[in-house]
Amino acid sequence: MSRTDTHCPYCALQCGMHLDVTETGDVEVSPRDFPTNMGGLCQKGWTSARVLTLPDRITTPLIRSESGELEPATWDEAMCFIAEKVRSIQGKHGRDAVGVFGSGALTNEKAYQLGKFARLALGTRFIDYNGRFCMSSAAAGANRTLGLDRGLPFPLSDVGEADALLLLGSNVADTMPPLVQHLGGVRDAGGLVVVDPRHSATAALTDNGAGIHLQPLPGSDLALLLGLVHIVIAQGWSDQEYLETRTSGWEEVRRSVTLWWPARVAARTGVPEELLYAAAEVLAKASPSQRGKGTVILTGRGVEQHTDGTDTVTAAINLALALGLPGRPHSGYGCLTGQGNGQGGREHGQKADQLPGYRSIEDPASRDQVAAVWGVDPAAIPGKGVPAVELLGKLGTEIRGLFVHGANPVVSAPDVGTLQQRMRSLDLVVVCDFLPSETTSYAHVVLPVAQWAEEEGTMTNLEGRILRRRKAIDPPPGVRSELEILAELADRLNSKARFGTEPADVFDELAHASAGGKADYSGLSHARLDDESGYYWPVPAGGASTPRIFTKRFGHDDGLAHMVAVRPGTPEDDLRPEAPVYLVTGRVLTQYQSGAQTRRVSELTKAAPESFVELHPTLAQRYQIEEGDMMSVESVRGRIVAFARISRGIRPDTVFVPFHWAGEGSANLATNDATDPISGMPEFKVCAVQIGKV
Ligand code: SF4
Repeated sequence: MSRTDTHCPYCALQCGMHLDVTETGDVEVSPRDFPTNMGGLCQKGWTSARVLTLPDRITTPLIRSESGELEPATWDEAMCFIAEKVRSIQGKHGRDAVGVFGSGALTNEKAYQLGKFARLALGTRFIDYNGRFCMSSAAAGANRTLGLDRGLPFPLSDVGEADALLLLGSNVADTMPPLVQHLGGVRDAGGLVVVDPRHSATAALTDNGAGIHLQPLPGSDLALLLGLVHIVIAQGWSDQEYLETRTSGWEEVRRSVTLWWPARVAARTGVPEELLYAAAEVLAKASPSQRGKGTVILTGRGVEQHTDGTDTVTAAINLALALGLPGRPHSGYGCLTGQGNGQGGREHGQKADQLPGYRSIEDPASRDQVAAVWGVDPAAIPGKGVPAVELLGKLGTEIRGLFVHGANPVVSAPDVGTLQQRMRSLDLVVVCDFLPSETTSYAHVVLPVAQWAEEEGTMTNLEGRILRRRKAIDPPPGVRSELEILAELADRLNSKARFGTEPADVFDELAHASAGGKADYSGLSHARLDDESGYYWPVPAGGASTPRIFTKRFGHDDGLAHMVAVRPGTPEDDLRPEAPVYLVTGRVLTQYQSGAQTRRVSELTKAAPESFVELHPTLAQRYQIEEGDMMSVESVRGRIVAFARISRGIRPDTVFVPFHWAGEGSANLATNDATDPISGMPEFKVCAVQIGKV
């Protein structure tokens, strides 16, 4: 038996686990005591090793034949095919005619290499990734206000020391169950405030005096937050000294929220005035300026995936600043990153506007520095591309070829019916994956890659803590790492830049390229990370780790937080007589993201076998729908068909569909691809639908 200490392959909590390889080669998972999971794992983590031995694992390159089938090919044939096709497309349509779609599941090394490959080997500006669907509004709001985007700018353990927590639009009890261990203190203090249109498993944690559940109308979270700031000011709970010394823009924010008095907010959100007052009081009384132990405010996708998502995050940060929280003990604002490397994935160059180290691709000094590391002229690095939804919208027109790495966009993107048509019109789709997925069914070439426990690398978790992912077993014969694949393709495309194939070497290059950037990893290496102390970026060369970022200054040059006055928008696709019900989408405990891995694990599919529609008994009665009936949920974009699950926990004007499944139950057949104008985040969390019994 050999034991390897590593982390779960799935979400950003990155729970610590042991992998034991038995003499017969079986891999067994057991939990490891790590600060984020404190010895716990959820069912996804416990069963994660099943994915290593699935019978439909892809172990040979596949090329689509003239008969339309994906047929086995040699690596040489597949690489030749791709290189020739890329040359042909770019020869006819220009270098930007090939795009790249990456993922928050990729290690830091792969995300970095993918960004470099797109810019130098393909020479395209069109690269973005599925983190745009996940983190972009929180990132944009934090960058605008705090001058820096690190999901949690403090260790998760700080939440455990606080007395109050405002959790906006996140169902951690289902998505990250071990995190609930950190909520014991706030629940004991009666300080857990959950904002969610459903009485989710997390909202249920507020029951029996442990806190308050606010159940606003979908799309009204921003108004709710403005109302809370209004009450904080009216009650004299704002921290004036903090606002004067650590922020700018407070006067505009203060003036703007005068319009959002509690009665108006109650009418807009459906949340009773007394609950608004009670929530504001819980948060204020626990804050350091009121001599409390601490108050934390966290946002999740429920409030971020809207066309006003960046402004909603900004309003949450304004509330935190009004209470004087960021940088104070056991207090602050953070967002809960979703994907395993959702944090690192947005720092090292696979985002349309970024170079490694969280640098802007439009900043001349950053371009010079990264070009020097890459050994190219700065002019060889293309300019800024476009966010993911816009990139996918160009498929079949401006973009004729697409590389997909670690993502399954034909399930996870908004309005997938339209995307599927666009995918069919492409001249080249290359998918790097280890399992067949709905997206590989559109591929001209599939390249089999190593996964999680079969390779070395690093991940950056929701706290900005950089972790070592370690190899426990060899990949199956015939499979390659993405680093090797990108290096060989770059070679075949005659790139002059050098592409590493060893994760430790690629990390060193990434660290060098990040030096001086916001996400500075230059003081780190695989060897240093192996000591498991836990390093939070920035870690400059010769410098220390930074567990808490904002204790003395914020990320803007003047060191202040820049408060911005914001106003609520309305959903882009709002209720009307022919679409009188809101659709919200989300997750369930035993499935992960597009389900490409977890839908194959029998223990998980037994618990959550298929898509469903959750609706209130009053709504069900109006449409004569009973528990278990097949029902439709139809927007102007498409129609979902799934069975009805009746629950008193959801608002009577709203239905909920989880997004983990493909086929007729796919939630994203109906969702809207309208995006936040600042972040490019699609409005997954609210659209207008008609429902009916099928
Ligand atoms: Fe932990 Fe997330 Fe893995 Fe569950 S899925 S074990 S919460 S890292």
